[in-house]
Amino acid sequence: MQIVVIGAGVVGASIATRLAQRGAAVTLVDQGFPGTGTSSTSFAWVNAHGKEPASYYELNLAGLTAHHELEASEEWLRPGGHVEIAVDEAHVRHLRGRMERLATRGYAVEEIGADRARELLPDVVVPDQADTIAYFPQEAYCFPLLYLARMLAEGRAAGVTVRDNTGVTALDPDGDGAKVTLSDGSVLRADAVVSAVGRRTSELAALAGASVPMAGFTEPGDVTVGYLLRTVPLPVRLNRVLTTPWLNVRPDGGGRLLLQALDLDATADPGAVPAVDSALAQDYLERLRAVVRNTGSASIAEVVVGQRVMPADGFTIAGRVSEAPWLYAVATHSGVTLAPFLGAAVTSELFGAEEPLLADFRPGRFAEGSQIAAPSSPRKPGEQ
Ligand SMILES: Cc1cc2nc3c(=O)[nH]c(=O)nc-3n(C[C@H](O)[C@H](O)[C@H](O)COP(=O)(O)OP(=O)(O)OC[C@H]3O[C@@H](n4cnc5c(N)ncnc54)[C@H](O)[C@@H]3O)c2cc1C
Repeated sequence: MQIVVIGAGVVGASIATRLAQRGAAVTLVDQGFPGTGTSSTSFAWVNAHGKEPASYYELNLAGLTAHHELEASEEWLRPGGHVEIAVDEAHVRHLRGRMERLATRGYAVEEIGADRARELLPDVVVPDQADTIAYFPQEAYCFPLLYLARMLAEGRAAGVTVRDNTGVTALDPDGDGAKVTLSDGSVLRADAVVSAVGRRTSELAALAGASVPMAGFTEPGDVTVGYLLRTVPLPVRLNRVLTTPWLNVRPDGGGRLLLQALDLDATADPGAVPAVDSALAQDYLERLRAVVRNTGSASIAEVVVGQRVMPADGFTIAGRVSEAPWLYAVATHSGVTLAPFLGAAVTSELFGAEEPLLADFRPGRFAEGSQIAAPSSPRKPGEQ
């Protein structure tokens, strides 16, 4: 079977690799370099946290489990869990509701006291008035480009041909399969084509005459965009994900910290990225100093405006496209968590076995006349 996978982010590279390991002849095409899409601007917290409804939770749990089960996961995955601190009434209610639902489902979650939190997070200022502190020991954070490096290495070893700096400019039916035209003028023949082009999914599907609706960037602060700030290396002991009402923090390697403050995303605009010494960066630093000790010398090394891969209703898309059955579309806002699971699951589907966990996520749900609710804003504490 000849398969062209379009998009070499964490999702496309996982699928290309698993397909090749099953014996398909795979070409992985990217218009830029692998990993330069959303995969390089991610908080990359691997979790099944706050994911509703149940089928979306199950899907994310499969992603979390798949990361832990992969061989050599220590190359990209940092276990150690996640601690969430809630101080105000609304946050406490929200957190307790989530904890209850997750515990009922058998997800690992513990309520812990301030002393245990201080053990887990030695340099974090754990407020004595913290009303609820939750520890989610199974969760992890990821270095997406190290995961990608592993997938690409395994893929190449299994025979994947990587064509970078080569965009797909046309998709046409050809017998039961398709012809894929590339920006250098070459044409690839494929039995199946996988679209894993992240936020470009609608445009790519349109080349095949299909409609796969995505939420695009419309104005600063909308649901598709969010800041991530990276500090300079700091002498701080932190080795797990921390979320608080003021700041989400995770290690970013070599003493750097990656910061996210969802309530400050209201001005996020990919066309106007604030400077590292901007007022926005100062706000983040003030919050960091209030939350983590030994950060007096902190400065911001990089400000990024990430652009989410956001299907029109916020949920993952995975399945064949009815207008062009040779085209399999995958797009998800939980791409780092889901990548290892999607690699295996999409491969099984292309080899003919339906994956039950993907049943609720078919692109057909957007068929004309369907009622689709817009994605809700990820602005609540603990969300990404
Ligand atoms: C601020 C932020 C925080 C996030 N936090 C988390 C988190 O905590 N946990 C989590 O699981 N996820 C998180 N995500 C989401 C996650 O990062 C993405 O879902 C994931 O990276 C998507 O990967 P992808 O491979 O689908 O897309 P991408 O990485 O965008 O890859 C798509 C690739 O397709 C290529 N491409 C596009 N068009 C074409 C074309 N016509 N021809 C050829 N190639 C093409 C692009 O060059 C790109 O390399 C976050 C995202 C953001 C923005």
